[in-house]
Order: sequence, then C-alpha cells, then structure tokens
Amino acid sequence: MTYPPFVPHWIADVEVPSTGGAVFEKRSPIDDRVVARVARGGAAEVAHAVSAAAGAADAWARTPAPKRGAILGRAAQLLREREQLFGAIIQVETGKPWKNAVAEVASSADLAVFMEGEGSRFYGKTMPSPISNRTVQTLRQPIGICAAIMPFNSPLAGIAWKAFPALLCGNAVVAKSHELTPHTAVEFGRLLKDAGLPVGLYSAVQGFGPDAGAPLVQDSRVGVVSFTGSSATGKLIQKMVSERAVLAKVCLELGGKNPFVVCDDADLELAAELAVASAFVDAGQRCASGSRIIVFDRIYDAFRKALLARVAKVRVGSGADDECGPVISRASLDRLLQQVAEAVSRGATLAAGGSALASLAPGYYMAPTVLENAAPDDEVSQQELFGPVTCLYRVNGFEDSVQLANRTTYGLTGAIHTASVHRAQEFITRYRGGLVSVNGATYGAGPHMPFGGVKNSGNGFREPGTESLDVYTELKTVVINHSPSGV
Ligand code: NAD
Repeated sequence: MTYPPFVPHWIADVEVPSTGGAVFEKRSPIDDRVVARVARGGAAEVAHAVSAAAGAADAWARTPAPKRGAILGRAAQLLREREQLFGAIIQVETGKPWKNAVAEVASSADLAVFMEGEGSRFYGKTMPSPISNRTVQTLRQPIGICAAIMPFNSPLAGIAWKAFPALLCGNAVVAKSHELTPHTAVEFGRLLKDAGLPVGLYSAVQGFGPDAGAPLVQDSRVGVVSFTGSSATGKLIQKMVSERAVLAKVCLELGGKNPFVVCDDADLELAAELAVASAFVDAGQRCASGSRIIVFDRIYDAFRKALLARVAKVRVGSGADDECGPVISRASLDRLLQQVAEAVSRGATLAAGGSALASLAPGYYMAPTVLENAAPDDEVSQQELFGPVTCLYRVNGFEDSVQLANRTTYGLTGAIHTASVHRAQEFITRYRGGLVSVNGATYGAGPHMPFGGVKNSGNGFREPGTESLDVYTELKTVVINHSPSGV
C-alpha cells in the first residue's frame, strides 16, 4: 500500500502511535479526500525521540566519516530502487505532477551520493605556527542531536536536504514532519534503516508546529536546529532557542519574493517560457518561485503578450504531462483567492487567472494568476504568497529594475534576462540575494550548489553543497605542542 490509512511517528526504527491515540486528518490536494489519519504528537513523543537520539549519537560520532558516508551511498541506491513508491507518496501528499514528484526522488538520491563523497573528504585545515614544535589544525566535529523542521512543498527533498548532511557529519536527527506531508519522513526512516543506519539516529515525530515543533526546538539536548519554512516561523524559532538554558546553532532557510527581470535586449520568448516556469512550477509553492516579473517599458507590451500566451497554455493538473498542480490545502487556496481579491480592490488588475478552477474541484487548483498595476509597496508586492500568483511591473530601465528587485525584505533568488554581459554582471553584483540566475529561471539547485538567502530569507547558512557541513559540524581548533620543552 503506497499510502497507509494511519501515519504513525517513526521513533528508533519503530512505528509509534500517539500517547492517548490523538490523531488528525490528512487530505489529498487532488480531490479533498481524507487519505489518512495521522498520529498527533507533542512533548512526550519529542522527548522519546530525543532520548533515542541521545543514546545513539556518541557511537555514531565516533564512526569514521567515510563509513557514515557509505550508508548514505546505500540509501541513494535504495532511493533509486524505490523511486515509484516515493513518487507516489509525494504525489498523494502534495498533488504535484508526476514528473516533479519523481524528480524529487532523483535529486535526493543525487544528494546522498554527493554526501557519501563528503565523508571521504571531510577536510579540516592545517595552519603554520610562528612557534617551533607546535602544530595547529582544525577538525570538523559532530554537534550531537539535530532537529530538522521542514516545509511541505518538497517533502522528500525537504528531509533529505537536512538528514543526509546531518548524518554524514556524525549527528543523530530528530525530524518534525510537516503536518500536511506526514508520511514521507516515515518512509524515509524505513529507507535509512534498510540502508544500515544504526537504531535511534533518525526519528520523525508527527504533529503541528506549536505542539511538536516547539518542544523539539526548546529541548536543550538538541545542538543544532535546522529549519526551513516561513520567515515568521523562522524568527520565532530563533527566539525560542535564545531563551533556552543552553544555546544551539540555528540554521534558517526561509521565504522569498524573487525578482525576474526582463531587459529590452532579452530573448522574449525564452524569458516568457522561464517566467512561467519560475512562477507556476509546484503551483508557485517554492521558496525560489518568480513572484515579481520586472519588465523594461520598451518591450513591456511585447513581453506581456508572449507571457500571457504561454500562461494560457499552462497545463493545470496532477497528470503525467501537467505543469501546475494544486496548492497544498483548502485553507491555502482560500487565502490566496482572498489575497488576490484584496490586491484587486486596492488597484491591481488581473491579466490572467484569479480564481479557483471549477473543473478540477474539489481539488485545490487555482488558475495561474498574473496581476498588473500593483504598487511596489502594496502587500501583494511585498508578502510571499506561496501560490500560483505572480505580479508584472513596468520599469524605465536597468537602474529602476535593480532598485525594484531589491525593494523587498526578502533576498533569496533573482533572475535577469539580457544579452548584455555588463547588465548581467551589474545585476549579479547589486541584487541582494543568495542566488542569481542569468537568462534562466529563478530556481535552480543541485547537491553541490550552496543555496540560501539574505535579509528575511535566511541567517547566512547554505544548504546543501560542501557548505552544509558548516551547519552540521563545529570546527575545533587544535594546538599541539609536540616537543613542549622546545616550544
Ligand atoms: P511554516 O513556517 O508554516 O512551517 C514550517 C514548519 O515549521 C512546519 O513543519 C511547521 O509545523 C513548523 N512550525 C510551525 N510553527 C512552529 C513553532 N511554533 N515551533 C516549531 N515549529 C513550528 O512554513 P510552510 O508554510 O510549511 O512552508 C512554506 C515556507 O517555507 C515558505 O515561506 C517557503 O518560502 C519556505 N521555504 C524555504 C526554502 C528555502 O530553502 N529557503 C525551501 C522551501 C520552502
């Protein structure tokens, strides 16, 4: 059975129900059907999982990094063998089109392979000393227990992006599953067990943020909190950690309001194609989605025409050839419709979409929506909507496009479409974000590519890539006086 009627916690390699049997419902975004009842966890399940992690962490930390990596190599192989299973689970949970669901499995397997290699590198540094008979070096050391708190939009990549580097670095992981995508993290636990990961090193607790996420963040045994989600929750988590008896490292990967700039020397057809992909892949539920399309006045009408022609062809649905799936929940759909209606009441105009798709109801499908004439400081221009909604802005030229690109509290990704190397280089330098794409989409990630944001999009860490080792290890500086009398 791909999706079980009951989704338990996964603690120390065992399926566990909640104390007292509390549950909540998981519904399918495709047809609003209840697909499962989910164990509703809280402080008791978190304490259980953290204790299991504490019992296993020391031996794992002392396991040589290449051996830890070898287990991830086996996990990669199992992920590829179980592609159909994980693809089906992701599709039930998110409703995303099949090709996007299986792409997530492939990229997670690629990440495990990359991290396996990091186990054989795991480099520190050696440094010269001005003193004779002294050696100075840095070592990467495991932190201990890692709390992994994830968003719903890419459930497998979400857990893989955290658990693979955290485990490779010698930590135990306690994940808080997203309440809207609960089963992926359990099946991921089964996969790690089958790959040979020792018991206790990976657990997944089900439940809502305040019930299950907060006690995990507040547990002083947790040494690193790795969070991906909204900026509002990220700030709350940082505050919770600062109030603990013992501090922890906090890695925040947060939201975006990403600009997609189209200059007057751009290939307009290519730009329209990639603007549509940036805005509507995963129904716009991507931190890196292109939610602000900034277009030079001189080509605005021509680009608008190309863009709307492409938007009209977007295949909405969850089938093999579809491009834009449903949003994650009824509440999310209602919120998006309201945000668009309110933007229109404040002066924005609808160039496309703006409504739910009646033909696909009761699934949570929204027509790909393009707004125009929204003021740059209007809520719709400033808040991350996390849905299939993008805004078009008209600017006089390059200088205005850079100003508008930066006129946001976020700084995750940005794209510029231009034939000018100079404009591209200026944008790379002046856009305040963690990733810039030239003549591409606003998204783009790989196992070797550090990803993260500035301002309200993150707190400086990058995942994955070699840089993710900085999240999950502490550097220890070692000074050895190897002939003390000669120092
Ligand atoms: P969210 O902030 O609502 O929830 C994220 C997680 O935090 C969930 O598991 C939730 O249960 C938990 N949580 C909520 N309240 C909590 C609390 N008080 N204590 C502890 N945990 C708590 O975000 P979401 O709507 O699930 O995800 C969408 C967001 O994630 C968007 O803002 C998106 O941009 C962001 N995101 C960022 C990246 C990135 O790499 N920067 C990637 C994907 C998604």
